[in-house]
Amino acid sequence: MEKKPIIGISGSILLTEGGIFAGYRRSYVNQDYIESVIEAGGIPFIIPFNTNTSVTVEQVKNIDALILSGGHDVFPLIYGEEPKQALGETFPERDYFDITLLKTAMDLNKPVLGICRGHQIINAGNGGSLYQDLSYNKELFIKHSQSTKWNIPTHTITIEEGSFLDDIYEKNEGMVNSFHHQIINDLADGFKVIARSKDGAIEAIEKINNRNFVLGIQWHPEMMNISDIFSKKLFKKFINTVKERNSNN
Ligand code: MN
Repeated sequence: MEKKPIIGISGSILLTEGGIFAGYRRSYVNQDYIESVIEAGGIPFIIPFNTNTSVTVEQVKNIDALILSGGHDVFPLIYGEEPKQALGETFPERDYFDITLLKTAMDLNKPVLGICRGHQIINAGNGGSLYQDLSYNKELFIKHSQSTKWNIPTHTITIEEGSFLDDIYEKNEGMVNSFHHQIINDLADGFKVIARSKDGAIEAIEKINNRNFVLGIQWHPEMMNISDIFSKKLFKKFINTVKERNSNN
C-alpha cells in the first residue's frame, strides 16, 4: 500500500476558563484540520506549541509537510510596524514558533500550506507586511468577518490562471468563507498573488519552484470541507502534491 504522508499541523494554546484549572494551558488544533487531512489521504499530527527552537526544528524533520493553522493576529513589529489601535489579540511567542516551523520546512524543501493566520505568517515570515486591520486600507468594502455560519461561503474570489488553485475552481471564480480582519499589504519576495476578492484584497498566494512549495490561503477551507467540493479538492491536491514531491526526493 502507498505510504500516506505525515502532515504536521501547527498547534496553539487554549486557556481553560473557570473552575479549579482556570488559566491552565492546553495544546490544541481545531478538529476540522484533522478531519480534512484524513479525508484527503494524509496522516495528521498536531505539532504542539513550544518555545524551544531546536525542538521545533526536530518537529519539522519528522513530518512530510506542514500546515500552519489559524489563530491570533501576527505581531506587527515582525514586519517593522508599531501596533496600531485596531490590532486584535496577539501571541508573539507563537509567531516565533510558527516562523521557525515555516523557515525550517522551507529550508528542508517540505511543502507548506498556511491557512488564515498561517497565510499571513507565510507573508510576514518571508519579509512581507500586513494591514493590521481592514480599516487601514480604504479601498476595501467587502465584509471579511462574516456573521454567517463557519462553513458557508459568503464572498467571491477571482483566481489567477495557471496557479495551484486554477484547476480546483471553475471559470477562475470561487466562493469562500471569510473570518479575517487583517490582510496582506506588501507581498513577500518570490511570492505570487493567486486569488483576490472583488475589493482587491489578497486572498491566496503561492511560491512554487523546484525547492519550495508554499501556499497561503486567507479563507478557511478546513471549515468548509464538510460541505464544499472545492475545499475537498484543495486538500486532496495539496496531499497529492506532498506525495509527488516526496517520491521525487
Ligand atoms: Mn475574505
